[in-house]
Amino acid sequence: MSAASERAWVGLGSNRAGPVAQVRSALDALAELPRTRLERASTLYRNPPMGPPDQPDYVNAVAELTTALTAHQLLAALQAIESARGRERSGQRWGPRPLDLDLLVYGAHRIADTDLTVPHPGMPERAFVLYPLVELAPQLWVPGMGWAAVLARALAGADLEPIPEWELSDG
Ligand code: ATP
Ligand code: MG
Ligand code: MG
Repeated sequence: MSAASERAWVGLGSNRAGPVAQVRSALDALAELPRTRLERASTLYRNPPMGPPDQPDYVNAVAELTTALTAHQLLAALQAIESARGRERSGQRWGPRPLDLDLLVYGAHRIADTDLTVPHPGMPERAFVLYPLVELAPQLWVPGMGWAAVLARALAGADLEPIPEWELSDG
């Protein structure tokens, strides 16, 4: 990647249409993005849903990218992947969806536009973001928020568990 590239962190979530396969295929799609390299992906985690309670558990993960895309270009690319997986943008917030891709952190940048807030403002309350993030980068400084490991420690004991390898092996 060029010297102008940034390190970006993306949160993945799904609770419909085969969540494990959704998250895995989204990781494949991230690996195919132009001017972008998928560096690492966390373990997949199973997580009770936020928002309406009458929906299936979520599967969540975090991916580390290096990218020469701007933050807005990356957001557009993430939304294109969501749309390709059948995500409809008209539905209720935090309702069931086949795929949610959120831009968590984009280098040292802090962005507050109408369509993009970075770092993602939900991070400090979300174990399903912080646990997989800390697995990859406990020492990550989240601009305006603090060290990833310290943020995660504040949510110790959250109801969130890594999905064991044997459960994933069939796809
Ligand atoms: P949340 O953002 O609280 O996790 P959500 O992921 O369910 O909720 P979406 O329906 O996926 O919300 O996105 C709603 C809007 O959020 C998008 O149209 C997008 O423009 C905006 N948005 C703002 N900041 C971000 C970000 N960092 N990553 C992804 N989308 C963002
Ligand atoms: Mg989200
Ligand atoms: Mg989203």
